Amino acid sequence: MAQNWYPIINEDLCANCNTCVDFCPNGVYVAGDFHPMVVKPENCVEFCRGCSKVCPNDAITYFGDNHN
Ligand code: SF4
Ligand code: SF4
Repeated sequence: MAQNWYPIINEDLCANCNTCVDFCPNGVYVAGDFHPMVVKPENCVEFCRGCSKVCPNDAITYFGDNHN
């Protein structure tokens, strides 16, 4: 459980490429019509930043990240 750490997508920056959906091994995201949806935030691994590193648009930040 990592309810204190999960991704937040900036809808204005997201290109809906689904790179983050395909990358995350924990099913945190599902694809959506306009941007992926964070459906299982409790599956996110605290301090993992994998999806933000692969996002081509820098559209992902994290709830719980003081450096946002
Ligand atoms: S990788 Fe980035 S741009 Fe692509 S769908 Fe995810 S948040 Fe949006
Ligand atoms: S931070 Fe890691 S575990 Fe959390 S959604 Fe992104 S890739 Fe998945």
